[in-house]
Amino acid sequence: MTKFKGIAASDGIAIASAFRLTEPDLSFNKETIKDSDAEIARLNQAIEVSKQELRTIQQRTLKDLGRHEAEVFKAHIAILSDPELLKRIKTMIETRHVNAEYALKNVSDSYIQIFNSMTDNDYLKQRSTDIKDVMKRVLSHLLGVPLSDPALIDHQVIIIAHDLTPSDTAQFVPNYVKGIVSDMGGRTSHSAIMSRTMEIPAVVGFQGSLADIKDGDPVIVDGLTGNVIVKPTADERQAYHEKQRQYQQRNEQLGAFRNAATTSSDGKHPIIAANIGTLDDLQAAIDNGAEGIGLFRTEFLYMDSDKLPSEEAQFNVYKTVVQKMAGKPVIFRTADIGGDKDLPYLHTPHEANPFLGYRAIRMSLDQPDVFRTQLRALIRASAFGNLSIMFPMIATVTEFKHAKRIFEDERTKLVAKDIPVGNIKLGIMVEVPAAALLADQFANVVDFMSIGTNDLIQYVMAADRGNRRISYLYQPYNPAVLRLIKSVIDACHDNGTPAYMCGEMAGDQKAIPILVGMGLNEFSMSATSILKSRALIKELDSREMVTLANKTVSLASTSQQVLKYVHQALEKP
Ligand code: PEP
Ligand code: MG
Repeated sequence: MTKFKGIAASDGIAIASAFRLTEPDLSFNKETIKDSDAEIARLNQAIEVSKQELRTIQQRTLKDLGRHEAEVFKAHIAILSDPELLKRIKTMIETRHVNAEYALKNVSDSYIQIFNSMTDNDYLKQRSTDIKDVMKRVLSHLLGVPLSDPALIDHQVIIIAHDLTPSDTAQFVPNYVKGIVSDMGGRTSHSAIMSRTMEIPAVVGFQGSLADIKDGDPVIVDGLTGNVIVKPTADERQAYHEKQRQYQQRNEQLGAFRNAATTSSDGKHPIIAANIGTLDDLQAAIDNGAEGIGLFRTEFLYMDSDKLPSEEAQFNVYKTVVQKMAGKPVIFRTADIGGDKDLPYLHTPHEANPFLGYRAIRMSLDQPDVFRTQLRALIRASAFGNLSIMFPMIATVTEFKHAKRIFEDERTKLVAKDIPVGNIKLGIMVEVPAAALLADQFANVVDFMSIGTNDLIQYVMAADRGNRRISYLYQPYNPAVLRLIKSVIDACHDNGTPAYMCGEMAGDQKAIPILVGMGLNEFSMSATSILKSRALIKELDSREMVTLANKTVSLASTSQQVLKYVHQALEKP
């Protein structure tokens, strides 16, 4: 047995065998071959096995995720059946007597180069990514190096990975992926947020060496404490099965809070809403008793597609969400593309500091056609429910006014065409310290503010939210962060503007008492945190929490002191 530590990123206990999701070594040498027929037969064999594998993945994806997701594998099979491409590879083997690996790479690279040079054809650019993927698969069979492909998983596993992108995580089928361990990432990285939404227990920022976990090793992931146990003893297995049972039992008890109002012990009613990224997440939000959607991360719609989603496609999703929420408020955030949510088909140049770069509202204002399409879809959907819009990463009042002008322009045009529109509130996310410091000015021009602590903390502390080595600095309870949050909430209230929070801190059980004391109006969180947060708030007296909040911002100088005050405030006399 070996025990490791990491950051607890998604609640729950998982026990299954390890599945390493690592980049394989596909390096090879150029070789001269004598028997080109035998070399071509080897290539044919690798192509055939790849096709069979792709057919299996296509069928499984179709069954588990749907037709749209399965299309990509159909395209991959088509590439492997393309006579022109195959002929060129085989001719190269025959005429230049090179090994199949070299010919395959050489020919496919030339295709990729041609497609990439067609700067104005997104469709062909996407085909170059497909060719790259397919060739990697064939190469792996030629070299006998297995690819660790999440789409091939057909039994219960714990994913072991160095890093996971949101699109990697989106491919996981929760029936098979029972837990996640990753080297990189903090609690607020988007993959961690997604694992919470998908209810997959996860530990990120792993502090051991991933090389110590072999494929198939039995692993326990404790997403409550951040412990990872490799090859557990029989006693440990038993202890964790018991912990798993207790966790499930507690969840069942929390079910009693599903349809209850959120009420503190002295009768205050903050709203608990859910953060979602896709239509698939909506049901969990409803099932967990969300009183609204405080953050719809619309960029996932863009990431789920190989081209910009049309106005109609967006309209249908937005309309469905507000209709299903049946009059409860839904806040859509306009696309926050960039940072760790790159869109390959936009071909944005690489940046040294993507989190400080061309992202979110900066990109929207720079590409007004894309922005206007999204706004039209949202404005049209507003006729079907209670819809608000907020802009991400706002740094200046000018940016907000600019975005608002574009919004009003689109609304006026739709109204002129007699298209029904609802009463839409406009707000901002407070993620940039400059916006937080100027909250009193913003409060005069916005309908609401929603504090995005995931980003705000990283900018206040100058600590990348996904970087394990400095994760100790990513401190939600640091008094500097708390003072800034309090000043935003106070500025809102001085102006009669509601203050919301949609960063992960809103669902953090240690932060909630402080935020109740600060008078936060809405807590928007992962659906799985709703019931326990509602249960916690029921126990809190908001007047005592005001004292706690004031203590944390005036007396504490460290996170530890803040946590001590929280602990004291929650202790029953
Ligand atoms: C935030 O920054 O707090 C937030 C909610 O946005 P995201 O996590 O998508 O960056
Ligand atoms: Mg953010």
